Amino acid sequence: MFNTYYQKSDINALLKMFALKKTEFLSVKQLKNLQTKRFKKLLNHVLQYSKFYQWYYKKHGITIDNIENISVTDLPPINKELMMNHYDDFVCDRFLKRKNIEKFLSYSKDPREKYHNIYTVIHTSGSSGIIGLFVYGPEDWAVIKALAAIRVVKPPPHLPRRIKSAYIGATDGHYAGVSLACDVPKLWARFLPLSINSPLETIDHKSNAFYPDVLSGSTSGVHLLSQEQLKGNITIRPERIICTSEPLTYGIRDTIKKAFGREPVNLYAASESLSMAVQCKRQENLHLFTDWHIFEAVDDDLRPVAAGTPGNLLLTNLYNYTQPLIRYQMHDEVAINEPPCGCRLPFPTMRTLAGRQEEFLWFDTADGKRDYLHPSLLVELFVVGLKKFQIIQTQRNKMLMKVILDGNQEAVLAAIRQRMGEIYREKKLDTTVKLDFEIVHYIPNDPKTGKFKLIIPLKN
Ligand SMILES: [Zn+2]
Repeated sequence: MFNTYYQKSDINALLKMFALKKTEFLSVKQLKNLQTKRFKKLLNHVLQYSKFYQWYYKKHGITIDNIENISVTDLPPINKELMMNHYDDFVCDRFLKRKNIEKFLSYSKDPREKYHNIYTVIHTSGSSGIIGLFVYGPEDWAVIKALAAIRVVKPPPHLPRRIKSAYIGATDGHYAGVSLACDVPKLWARFLPLSINSPLETIDHKSNAFYPDVLSGSTSGVHLLSQEQLKGNITIRPERIICTSEPLTYGIRDTIKKAFGREPVNLYAASESLSMAVQCKRQENLHLFTDWHIFEAVDDDLRPVAAGTPGNLLLTNLYNYTQPLIRYQMHDEVAINEPPCGCRLPFPTMRTLAGRQEEFLWFDTADGKRDYLHPSLLVELFVVGLKKFQIIQTQRNKMLMKVILDGNQEAVLAAIRQRMGEIYREKKLDTTVKLDFEIVHYIPNDPKTGKFKLIIPLKN
């Protein structure tokens, strides 16, 4: 019991913060060694305490007796469905039962409330059709709190009082963002949740009255506040602005900067790990926290892709000993670069993610290689008079752009042509990829999902 009390304490989080700071001064090789050491320890743990992992790895010939030379890539990947179907066997803490956790979530809407006063429970909304539960024990949670504090929030040191931290987003449940944001040490900070679903007037009033030093939240939430500030409805001056959950596009970034006079920081986080990467202060790239995670980019057949090439993310969370995720398939597309970015941090970088649902378009280049158009270029395409569009790859090196136009059609079309030409030229695809236009009045949604699809790549 004393142990739990200590694990939950601010002192534990503080000591972890010091350790994390020290890690930032390791060499790339030392960092890799630390990661390997932590991976081995976790593997040993799951083979002792998780019935699921014992069974699942045994099928692949891996048992606790022969893990000496096993590396992470030797292990079979897992996914959310597999985890949830075997939940009670999956977790390493026998006390945890899916049914009971779900019962807790059905009545507890306060993200500050811990399950049995010990565990932090996070649930996902289930946009993939599968509800996900993610439980963190107090020691696991202390790591994540420290990571967020020291590498993301980095509190302004000059304040002679407690920091005021506001979070805007979904706040009425055990969602990832608010669960982490609300759990700041009380000695250190005051917290204000701003529900994105409350009336704008209420949000404005609360923001002004609280006057936060740190503003975090879903990108769309922070964007909303920046628009309110530009309209003069709020006048706040946060020193740190952290955007997460949704893509931070150039347009949104600009609006936030204009409103608050500060650059927002892009944080990559999910229920599977609440702090995985944060934007480098020198550039657009995000630094991956490889001291407490292993990140792999793989293709659709789960084979590793070359460094710098986009792939699907396999995540290994090295600090969650309660519900360990090893080679867990995320639904995010990433491009991981191994060499450090040039700042002093030893962490590899990941290219900023565009719309998570949007797909990359691949083409043949003039010199016979393959290259892609990043969806962010298309997600953020802005041409006056272009109301809505859709891009369909009709052949290997041919695209059709369906456009709904406003105003002088010829002039708008010429402007789109010019902008798309620039995008292709930058990527050196202008001589090989053909682009056709079709002016339409309506673009139907995807009949399968019922949702609008901006980019439709060629099948196979
Ligand atoms: Zn950097």
